[in-house]
Amino acid sequence: MADTVKTGIGAKLAREIERAGPISVAQFMAEANAHYYATRDPLGVAGDFVTAPEISQMFGELVGLWLADLWLRAGSPANVHYVELGPGRGTLAADALRAMRSVGLTPQVHFVETSPILRAAQAERVPHAIWHDVIGGLPHDAALLVVANEFFDALPVRQLVATDLGWRERVVACTDDVFTAGVGESVPGSLLPEALLGAAAGTIVESSPAARAICAELSARIADQGGGAIVIDYGYQGPAAGDTLQAMRDHRYADPFTNPGEHDLTAHVDFTALAREGRSAGLKVAGPAAQGEWLERLGLSARASALAAARPAVAAEIALAQDRLAGPEQMGILFKALALVAPDWPDPEGFA
Ligand code: SAH
Repeated sequence: MADTVKTGIGAKLAREIERAGPISVAQFMAEANAHYYATRDPLGVAGDFVTAPEISQMFGELVGLWLADLWLRAGSPANVHYVELGPGRGTLAADALRAMRSVGLTPQVHFVETSPILRAAQAERVPHAIWHDVIGGLPHDAALLVVANEFFDALPVRQLVATDLGWRERVVACTDDVFTAGVGESVPGSLLPEALLGAAAGTIVESSPAARAICAELSARIADQGGGAIVIDYGYQGPAAGDTLQAMRDHRYADPFTNPGEHDLTAHVDFTALAREGRSAGLKVAGPAAQGEWLERLGLSARASALAAARPAVAAEIALAQDRLAGPEQMGILFKALALVAPDWPDPEGFA
């Protein structure tokens, strides 16, 4: 469960906890991830984890065509913005923009990204992008075509624990430079979904106020300006109990409370909570659909065959990539796609 404090952010968190007492899991996750993403490019084989756009160009292309299809059926408005939240290396955007261009869609490009290192990587692939720290910086003048792939899972979750004395905040303590999770202040039952209120002691329930706030702000913009968003991530349809906080380093799971800032901390995304924000803003909501089914409905198999026919030497690699993206044992079922679309825009493709 424990390790020594080795990094700058670990030492800072340890001092903070010694001074003021344990901090919430959400605060721990927020500070650890801010340091993590600001100090490295974590993606790819040489990094800590691999995402769908880094597996194959087919992923970004299909996302781009999904957006282009929505735009075409909305009457091809001349002024429109491509927006990506947490674009990683910019690979998805580059593939999506190329596919969009092939059907006559050339939007302005806006990236919401906090990491200076990843901004530099994104600039290599999409030099004409405009960067923003937060959604509030996005322009107000045109429809937004938004992509968020493996973005929401990186946002901090709050964890609430059932105890014999009621529900408590799950917190992180630190003794002799060793971080451990524990039980903190009591929280009102009104914070919990009714269905989970009577859960057994030890049950953990997560929520992400940060994810909900960002989704609400984005939804309000789409309702106001037109357009739509596709959110793809690993997650579930709440309400559900369970501790999904995980740390990934060098493609292996690690203890989330050791070495803060040195591995990727994520939590599964509650798609029900995001859909609720979309609906309250007046958006049409489709999904979540399993990533595999969504990609297949958009033509993954056809795209894979076309690529393999054009480059027979790498046909086996392409088949492997298709399976990693859509196979039920791979990313096909755990990962899900949720669409949030302006009320006066067409119904999105790919949902049954
Ligand atoms: N979408 C990319 C990268 C996923 S990793 C892909 O699929 O490959 C998560 C991304 O979100 C990184 O680019 C990270 O720097 C960014 N990020 C994490 N927290 C953020 C925040 N609070 N605001 C903006 N970007 C954030």
